[in-house]
Amino acid sequence: MLFEDVAKAFDEIEGKSGRLEMTDLLARIFEKASPEEAERIAYITQGELRPPYDGIDLGLGEKFAIEAIRKASGYPKSTVEKEFEKEGDLGVVAEKLFSEKKQQSLFRKSLSVLSVYNSMFKISRATGSGSQTMKINRLVELYNNATPLEARYVTRFVLGQLRLGVGDPTILDALSVSHTGDKSLREEIERAYNLCSDIGYVARLFIEDPKKMKEFKIEVFKPIMPALAERLPTPKEIIAKLGKCAVEYKYDGFRIAIHKKGNRVEIYSRRLEKMTHMFPDVVEGVQKLKPKEVIFEGEALAFNEDEKRFYSFQETMHRRRKYGLKEASGKYPLHVFAFDLHYLEGEDCTQLPYLDRRKKLESFLPTGVIKLSRMRIVSTPKELDSLFQNALTMRLEGIMAKDLKAKYTAGKRKFAWIKLKKSYGKEMDTIDAVIVGYYRGKGSRAKFGFGGILVAVYNDETSRFETIAKVGSGFTEEEMEKFQKMLDEDKVKRPPSNLDYAMEPDFWVHPKYVVEVAYDNITRSPTHTCGKEEGKGLALRFPRMVRIRDDKGPFNSTTTKEVEEIFRFS
Ligand code: AMP
Repeated sequence: MLFEDVAKAFDEIEGKSGRLEMTDLLARIFEKASPEEAERIAYITQGELRPPYDGIDLGLGEKFAIEAIRKASGYPKSTVEKEFEKEGDLGVVAEKLFSEKKQQSLFRKSLSVLSVYNSMFKISRATGSGSQTMKINRLVELYNNATPLEARYVTRFVLGQLRLGVGDPTILDALSVSHTGDKSLREEIERAYNLCSDIGYVARLFIEDPKKMKEFKIEVFKPIMPALAERLPTPKEIIAKLGKCAVEYKYDGFRIAIHKKGNRVEIYSRRLEKMTHMFPDVVEGVQKLKPKEVIFEGEALAFNEDEKRFYSFQETMHRRRKYGLKEASGKYPLHVFAFDLHYLEGEDCTQLPYLDRRKKLESFLPTGVIKLSRMRIVSTPKELDSLFQNALTMRLEGIMAKDLKAKYTAGKRKFAWIKLKKSYGKEMDTIDAVIVGYYRGKGSRAKFGFGGILVAVYNDETSRFETIAKVGSGFTEEEMEKFQKMLDEDKVKRPPSNLDYAMEPDFWVHPKYVVEVAYDNITRSPTHTCGKEEGKGLALRFPRMVRIRDDKGPFNSTTTKEVEEIFRFS
């Protein structure tokens, strides 16, 4: 398949904001693709080359792209830079300059999807001395054979700025539509995806034979999409929803999935990034476990032996950043509280009810640094509340109530897990929101150049972001500087194509950073678009910045549905 077909589809997708139209355009591409091509197209559409846990980064900065455009177009560097200043998008600059190209290549070969992918993959792999020159040369080679439209997308891709606004759900729908003309296979495809978190692998298997979705099995070293928790405001409502249920402590650390096969151990974050090297102490503990093949999940927390208390999420993160790993492991020993089991000695446990999974987990835990989350079965709101109060006195975040019969709901927010956190009702309510824009500093803040952020939540039914607050307070001076620098790098000219907004910030940024925002209550307001009804969305009143959630990606932010629930209950 020609890369030009993909570039044309991307161009059309960019002009659309409707999910249905995007799905159809992508489906038409998948219809024509071979399994290998489908795999590459699925990755490229996401702006990736491999699934997130492979940690492949193209590693090309703007400077290098400018150099490659200069070389391939024959224009001087100053022209490329001037155009960049004007357009704010090197993709558009490449397209423009190549359509007015001075040096016409005599032997232009049409680019295929596979050859473009291979070149980009090689660019990503090049390391060592001379690798930058090699990266530039490969890019020049691509440009020499590219049409102007292809050059636009190749450029954006290598810079990590493709930003089509096509989320995983659209790709999954498009695969189904490519085969049946409708979304009837979406659920099966999504199941496979949630069990391996590898969109390209799923696309390849599906195009090979759609039956492979139903037969799809968990594999060690392919992380599973984490199950998500709903929230309810009181013990009474939790018991009304679940009846007799399990209650576990909710530890405020970072979530990890642990994979073991023989002596090999890998640890993945909630965002599915490989974090094994950060946890030598945990790896050692896992190697000593009895099972030969196992995948389980837990929360990692640092424990202060002197004070006999757990460190908060922030202190635990600090441990990773500030100290050398070795020193940190000794000074702040990590404990993992295992809370779920996905796979054991060849058996897919995600299909078992919670209580069976827990029993199997208890068959080989606790040992050493790998503990078990504390769990009790309760039947009344009073019992549940007393565990909740216990958790708070231990300085934990709250509790997780779990449906005794529920399967593991990979990648889904179902009422299998319900969280009750200390902030609800009493102290501080917070949501996790995505930064989509920011403001210039005025008055006393002018010296920081930073005046706050515009944040949004994710609507997982429409796959769009919807704004919910302008956050101007809660930042220390240090944070203002940090945000300014961080967001300046991600500034974009146009509002993100998958964002619904009513107010405009001074600068737009691509949805990427998640922040925890505290607020007093939620009201209806015409200035925001979250859960909009009759021209008014939901908005946070008195929003305050709490912290950056760098363990969460934009699609793991609080959802519109959750905000609607909180609004309804408050
Ligand atoms: P939240 O981040 O507030 O949506 O809460 C869900 C998170 O709580 C999960 O992603 C886990 O990281 C964390 N967590 C802590 N303890 C538990 C537990 N016992 N069971 C499940 N999740 C837990």
